[in-house]
Amino acid sequence: MNGRIFAAIFVPIALVAVFLIIVFVVRSRLGISDDYHLDVAVEQLDGEPNLEEYENCVSLLQMDKLKNSNGVRDCDAKAQVLSLNELHAIFPTRQYQELENASDSCVICQEKFNRWNNVCQLACSHVFHTRCIDHWTCENSACCPLCRRSYFMPQDHQSKTKYIQAVLGPTYSQLSSAKKANSWLELYPDLTRDAEARLGSFNSSFWKIVRKLCFVSDESITSVTIINSAHRRYNLINKVENIKLEHMRNELRQAQPTI
Ligand SMILES: [Zn+2]
Ligand SMILES: [Zn+2]
Repeated sequence: MNGRIFAAIFVPIALVAVFLIIVFVVRSRLGISDDYHLDVAVEQLDGEPNLEEYENCVSLLQMDKLKNSNGVRDCDAKAQVLSLNELHAIFPTRQYQELENASDSCVICQEKFNRWNNVCQLACSHVFHTRCIDHWTCENSACCPLCRRSYFMPQDHQSKTKYIQAVLGPTYSQLSSAKKANSWLELYPDLTRDAEARLGSFNSSFWKIVRKLCFVSDESITSVTIINSAHRRYNLINKVENIKLEHMRNELRQAQPTI
């Protein structure tokens, strides 16, 4: 008797549990589990980025459309002026007493340095008060005021990812899948093809039944495929742009002989 009650209670529970596990596994297999996040491992990010694919992604990216879309600021507007964040990242502020063989006054404000002044030494070896060179780079140009060496850093590499972020937002895991997929499709219309191909591979009558049982719609498979591919492209572009930026920063850091 006890055994029957036990069976009557636990067998249905076990069956429901097994069913839920199967649903979870199948949904994961289709890319739609409940704990699905966009921060999935991006296979392309291991090792060197694939440059050919990168060029392809960039050419597929509809920059003109993005530039004209509402609310997106023109990132090239102040390209001639090095941003302060960039300046401080490349040439960090130091105290005057830490420097050797530095001139004894700041050519911008004409004042003599004291030992505790916050100063900035550019790669050309010229030294200025941090506040003075900040003013100079913001209001004049990304050139040394003394020797005119250019510290201009082209910003167009950054602007691609900036535009993407301006349109889609810097975080991708907050929006709903369908909404995200649509915004990616505006940038990469060709992803529809990938999504249709993936959907095609789950179109047999077996998969149709399984999908029904697991509450997976055609739309969710399409959305997830689009988001996955787009996210991978985004990461690839980001990684290559970061490498390029670091390369440019290093070029600016390199000392040139002062004339
Ligand atoms: Zn000064
Ligand atoms: Zn200089």
